Amino acid sequence: MTKKYDLVIVGGGPAGLMAARVAGENGLNAALLERKSDMTRVGRVDGGGLIPINEYMCGETLTYSPEVKRIGFPVSGFSTKYDGPYQDMYGFRFYSPGGKFFSFGDHEKQKKDPKKNRVGVAIDKERMLKGLLEDVEAAGVDVFPGTNVTGIETKKSGVIVTGNGEAFEGTFVIAADGVNSRIAQLMGMNKNRKYIGMLTDRVWHLEGVTIPQVAGLSFIFTTYGFFFVTTICHENQYHLGISTYNPRVDLEPNLKRIVYEDNVYSPWFKGARKTGETSCVVNLFSPIKEPFKDNVLFVGDSAWLLELTNPFAIMCGWKASNAITLALLDGKINKEGISSYLEWWQKTFYEPHGSDEFKPITLEDFLSADDMDYLVGLIKEPLVATMNFYKMLHTVGNTYAELFPVIQEERPDVMEKLMGMVNQMDEIEENARKAGFPNR
Ligand SMILES: Cc1cc2nc3c(=O)[nH]c(=O)nc-3n(C[C@H](O)[C@H](O)[C@H](O)COP(=O)(O)OP(=O)(O)OC[C@H]3O[C@@H](n4cnc5c(N)ncnc54)[C@H](O)[C@@H]3O)c2cc1C
Repeated sequence: MTKKYDLVIVGGGPAGLMAARVAGENGLNAALLERKSDMTRVGRVDGGGLIPINEYMCGETLTYSPEVKRIGFPVSGFSTKYDGPYQDMYGFRFYSPGGKFFSFGDHEKQKKDPKKNRVGVAIDKERMLKGLLEDVEAAGVDVFPGTNVTGIETKKSGVIVTGNGEAFEGTFVIAADGVNSRIAQLMGMNKNRKYIGMLTDRVWHLEGVTIPQVAGLSFIFTTYGFFFVTTICHENQYHLGISTYNPRVDLEPNLKRIVYEDNVYSPWFKGARKTGETSCVVNLFSPIKEPFKDNVLFVGDSAWLLELTNPFAIMCGWKASNAITLALLDGKINKEGISSYLEWWQKTFYEPHGSDEFKPITLEDFLSADDMDYLVGLIKEPLVATMNFYKMLHTVGNTYAELFPVIQEERPDVMEKLMGMVNQMDEIEENARKAGFPNR
């Protein structure tokens, strides 16, 4: 028998859980369907970093207070429970194969007054999800863990979602089933999205790492791969990861190489203990401009390229259920009813960042270790302190653009390689697309 609801939410990640909590608190008859039996278990790669603190990003700046154990969204006007461990974060760092680096922020200086100078906080994502789920249950939402949604059908009366042999009908449905959303695929939402490629990440969880940075997210360029080292919520513990756009590359030997053999970086990991590992493989499609079809609203990563990030996925869930509540109250069971969400989505995410594509470049295909050392060594002073990914990307682009005359003068060979890379961008993109296995 089909169970009937005002709102059916598919996916119990940050977006779906917040959407469910708000739906329940607003008095809607709502159901949350999640394929995992324990939706608070993360399983795949996710540092849990909570950004931005003390800076604005996508119209919001977060607050976190260990005293009240809540994460605040003061611009949007709500907060959520968080009673887990945390660590302050101070910015990004970029390292070259030979160990040269430049920083976003002066981390040692910032650390003298963490509350004022931190730009992010690393949290335990599973604890945050637990806090959200407690609120969802308290709000009286019907929760169906272990329900893998495999079908969706639009009827005159509403939208019917099926999974594990059960059917759920919602006047509205929120698809919060994450990147590579099955609902998006089933509803043909990916057909007009640009396919960028397949990104594979593999991460080791390490404790006892001696990293020269105070706390933040470091990117390491080497001749055998692109790595990241991120602060997590526990002191002296880090996630070391490697990414590739070529799904045929075995990443494990390269992780071993940086940890045990690399002359510059293996000393960071001397004596470190591996406590876990995670991976993820995702198809990257360009974001969805209008994430709504047949009374199904796509929120969080399901409408984005990859990483809307945890706080912004939460914001989407909050906005989406409030918009749907008003649509139901106004009797506008259509696009007009939720137009406030669509306008906000376009203004906040799609217009400013919808075209900020990840370029599937493998730097070591173009530049030698010496070239990368030279380029990284050119930036001597700390750049703006930020954990805003978009700001970081634009700042790197603008900083190097300003340095082009210097590079041309000092290292015309490097400039030629950079120009070669830019000129081959179409080919690079085509190769990344061909290497992946898109599932539209
Ligand atoms: C490698 C990597 C590292 C990241 N690190 C960070 C970080 O440090 N900080 C940060 O803020 N963000 C990070 N992110 C981004 C963050 O994980 C996402 O932006 C966020 O989780 C999106 O939330 P969501 O609720 O939209 O989707 P998700 O968190 O993906 O949740 C989707 C939920 O839907 C469920 N689901 C999927 N399909 C179905 C189905 N058919 N039926 C029922 N349920 C289904 C899934 O099991 C899942 O629980 C990272 C992402 C990646 C890929």
